[in-house]
Amino acid sequence: MKYKSKQEFLDSVVNKYSDQKEFHQAVEEVIHSIWDNASNNEEYCKFNILDRIVVPDRTIIFRVPWMDDKNNVHVNLGYRIQFNSAIGPYKGGLRFHPNVNLGILKFLAFEQVFKNSLTGLNLGGGKGGSNFDPKGKSDKEIMSFCYAFMNELHRHIGRRTDIPAGDIGVGAKEIGYMFGQYKKIRNAFTGVLTGKGTKWGGSLIRPEATGYGLVYFVLEMMKTRKDSLKGKTVTLSGSGNVAQFACEKLIELGAKPVTLSDSSGFIHDPNGLTQEKIEYVKKLKSVRSARISEYAKKYNVEYYKGKRPWSIQCDIALPCATENELNLDEAKQLTDNGCYVVAEGANMPSTTNAVHHFINQKILYGPGKAANAGGVAISGIEMSQNSTRIPLSRDKVDNLLKEIMQRVHSTCVQYGDKGDFINYVDGANIGGFVRVADSMIDQGIV
Ligand code: NDP
Repeated sequence: MKYKSKQEFLDSVVNKYSDQKEFHQAVEEVIHSIWDNASNNEEYCKFNILDRIVVPDRTIIFRVPWMDDKNNVHVNLGYRIQFNSAIGPYKGGLRFHPNVNLGILKFLAFEQVFKNSLTGLNLGGGKGGSNFDPKGKSDKEIMSFCYAFMNELHRHIGRRTDIPAGDIGVGAKEIGYMFGQYKKIRNAFTGVLTGKGTKWGGSLIRPEATGYGLVYFVLEMMKTRKDSLKGKTVTLSGSGNVAQFACEKLIELGAKPVTLSDSSGFIHDPNGLTQEKIEYVKKLKSVRSARISEYAKKYNVEYYKGKRPWSIQCDIALPCATENELNLDEAKQLTDNGCYVVAEGANMPSTTNAVHHFINQKILYGPGKAANAGGVAISGIEMSQNSTRIPLSRDKVDNLLKEIMQRVHSTCVQYGDKGDFINYVDGANIGGFVRVADSMIDQGIV
């Protein structure tokens, strides 16, 4: 083994990419789980898998010039990180948010490699996006930006190479504009993006998949303790795609979601959200600059400006907004108040210390790369429908989603069962890693 210790390896990553703190965090979490497995395996050492797995296949950074409604010209940075293609073409979302930078996208792409592996599908890992802020932009400006972004991105993607999807700031509308521009430039109607409209190649249940899949994963975790969702109080952060559909499925299965948030604050509805209230949130949040505080006015509930929802008593907490949105103090507050299930709809929402707290407390803690894998899984199913040109019914896709989430869960149990509790972090990291590492060895030094 080239490195004397785990820390020496981690230091080497930090030294190489000193300004990418979110990437260090994601690498540290994975390496912590896989170190024994990787450093004691002769083949993994011989093929230097550890050094290779933390370096992307390629990183593409480009200029995105576009014009606003007042004819001012702006320039944003566009990115695509093609991280690992050992088990399939690169797959992962595009994020449009002002805080996007290389470190954030590398952490997301790295996580995606293991997440995609866990689904059991043939999907490699990638991620991309831009520091463009869609908030406050007109429809025409968003369309101009999406066209400009695709003017460069189209060279690097393709249905057999790299198939992007949505993420924060990129929903059905943006995917539509980017698909339109790809088709125009390449004169090809192919499944090059997922999350498409269902009239033109999108899969039923894709918009719902991450949120529904998250709740299916929670159900599987609870079954290990012969528990169910009925009557459970649930706090959620976020109010976008993932949070909305997680709420919908929670209500259907008899749980009571009581909070939603955005980057301005959170609402607490002690009577619980209903389907009607979720429909209101979907409509409200279809305008990206709309604030969740409007919910509090409409339904006469408390709004907490600038705060996060983790102080509210609950049985289950589902962070569904963004990275590092739940810290150690908040983790302690949650468990002190009786919360015993935390599952991540967002990617890396819990800080490293918060994760350690959940594991030390032996609660049911499902990390994002397992718990939110439903979205990419159904993107994979969208790709197969595009290839066969045979659309699947809603029921069929929903059943596939349940099956895949059960598979992700059983892989976590296989690699994370510690006897008295299941360490889902170890389970997800080792389960995801082994498949990718073995495939890299099969393919030699490439
Ligand atoms: P949306 O853009 O639909 O919604 C994002 C939500 O998170 C909004 O409520 C937004 O509030 C909030 N948010 C964004 N940034 C911050 C911030 N810095 N602080 C507080 N709140 C913030 O995105 P999604 O629902 O699609 O994604 C949410 C999370 O789920 C992300 O971590 C994403 O990577 C992850 N994910 C998404 C998948 C998908 O299929 N969509 C798949 C797997 C993971 P505001 O309106 O104020 O910006």
